[in-house]
Amino acid sequence: MKAVAVIPKKEKSVHLVEMEKPKLDEIKNGRGVLVEVLRVGACGTDREINNAEYGVAPEGFEFLVLGHENFGRVVEVSENVKELQKGDFVVATVRRPFGASIYDKIGQQDFTTDAEYWERGISRLHGYMAEFYVENADFLVKIPPKIAEIAVLLEPLSIIEKGLKQAEDIQKRLDIWQPKTAAVLGTGNVGLLTIMALRMRGFEVHGFGKQAREGYLNAQLCEAIGATYDSTDGLSIVNSVEKYGEYDLIFECTGYSPIIFDAMQSLNENGILILASVTGGERKTDAVPSDKINQEFVLGNRAMVGTVNANREHFEMGVKDLALCEAMYEGWLARMLTHKVSGLENYEKVFEILENSGKYNAIKTFFEVNKI
Ligand SMILES: [Zn+2]
Repeated sequence: MKAVAVIPKKEKSVHLVEMEKPKLDEIKNGRGVLVEVLRVGACGTDREINNAEYGVAPEGFEFLVLGHENFGRVVEVSENVKELQKGDFVVATVRRPFGASIYDKIGQQDFTTDAEYWERGISRLHGYMAEFYVENADFLVKIPPKIAEIAVLLEPLSIIEKGLKQAEDIQKRLDIWQPKTAAVLGTGNVGLLTIMALRMRGFEVHGFGKQAREGYLNAQLCEAIGATYDSTDGLSIVNSVEKYGEYDLIFECTGYSPIIFDAMQSLNENGILILASVTGGERKTDAVPSDKINQEFVLGNRAMVGTVNANREHFEMGVKDLALCEAMYEGWLARMLTHKVSGLENYEKVFEILENSGKYNAIKTFFEVNKI
């Protein structure tokens, strides 16, 4: 079978490989599921791995098959798989509990304290940019056929679901927390999914991006789901509170770390800031009003939390939000799927779009490996 792979730590090494079709018995205890890949999303993580920023090949391999944003159809199941059958649509989770930490041992590998990860398509495990994969049924989430068309968005959504679950869990410190307003910093693919998830929870949502509103599809999508859109060039987060009031919840996913200090100053009493950007650079920032920020956090019982990766429960939460969004705003999610590339052999096109997403106005680029 065909697959798209890189040589980890070698720049621009993305290429097509020919591999053996995986077999059910690679998974022990009769829990194997063979899945035909239908769609695979591509994102900044794939771009960064191809740019040799990170990525580790599985033991015994020189290359790493890319792809973590997946969607497929069950072809065959082993004898101890009762919850899935041939023909079911599934999305697989990404991180596996193969580390040594206590969190891996209790199935909370998304909270691992290890420095090494086992993540399909990223680190030590082959990914989903292939015609088939096998997986333990424990790591597969069943997808209702009615959301098959947009289910490739579930993996990126799972990251957001985890962030929102963290906020909810932390806010249980308050016997009553009835949040009403939220700001989402960043309106790319992750930002738009966050806005959607918060709208599904009934929040008044304000989205902030860098680009001007006029003619910007992402801004149109914000407004089409009942959120506002502002460019931070015209309205900073700090100044936006005069217009919209202080926020009960802020979700940061811009990739621009200095903005978090603005966000910290824009929270309501008892409010919470969720940080979800991976900022691998060395940017430093000064002129931070640290006395003011510290005082507001202390006197207002404010909270801030970082979040990464996701576990099965967050994928399951995501399935519900996707289904609810389709029921409430039919077709909205499909508008995020801006760039479809048919066939794994056309990987160069996918990476060309990833490298120049601004030029292409791409929100989500994905492979169609097989027809739904
Ligand atoms: Zn991704």
